[in-house]
Amino acid sequence: MVEQSLWIPAWVALGSNQNDPLQQLSAAMLALDDLPDTRVQLCSAFYRSAPMGPVAQPDFINAVAGLLTRLSPQVLLAHLQALEVSAGRRRDQEQKWGPRPLDLDILTYGMQRIDEPGLRVPHPGIHERNFVLLPLLDVAPDLEIPDLGPVHCLAAAVTTEGLERLD
Ligand code: AMP
Repeated sequence: MVEQSLWIPAWVALGSNQNDPLQQLSAAMLALDDLPDTRVQLCSAFYRSAPMGPVAQPDFINAVAGLLTRLSPQVLLAHLQALEVSAGRRRDQEQKWGPRPLDLDILTYGMQRIDEPGLRVPHPGIHERNFVLLPLLDVAPDLEIPDLGPVHCLAAAVTTEGLERLD
């Protein structure tokens, strides 16, 4: 089933370091709001972050968006992946940790815990990613991440190294 009757709060992480990243994120915010049965309620500031991993590549631009959605998490993910492809992403050609025009991850979906092939929620990288936690801290400090605790506690445990808020 594509649609459910309840509107569920969900958080999505956005990242880009190819093909005009600032424009990619601005366009992705609008595209998220245009998804069926989905409204963007909150957008964080944009942040510049140093890339993770061994590949030399441009800095990323990152942000988070708070949605209300009636899509199931699986259908929401399918839409996010379609937006990544529309932005020029070609998964079959990219390196692990490599550059990408658009990366959209589901961070949380209500208080649900999902662990199935192709979808883990809460996203397993949340607690170690300052480029997710600091944007979340700006707009949703009290958001409870299932099994991990509130964003403000998780954010207190990471450094701001490599991260710059763009105003
Ligand atoms: P990435 O390279 O970060 O875009 O990872 C994409 C892969 O992670 C895809 O195969 C997704 O099915 C999988 N995945 C698992 N959990 C999630 C999630 N919460 N949000 C987005 N992708 C996810």
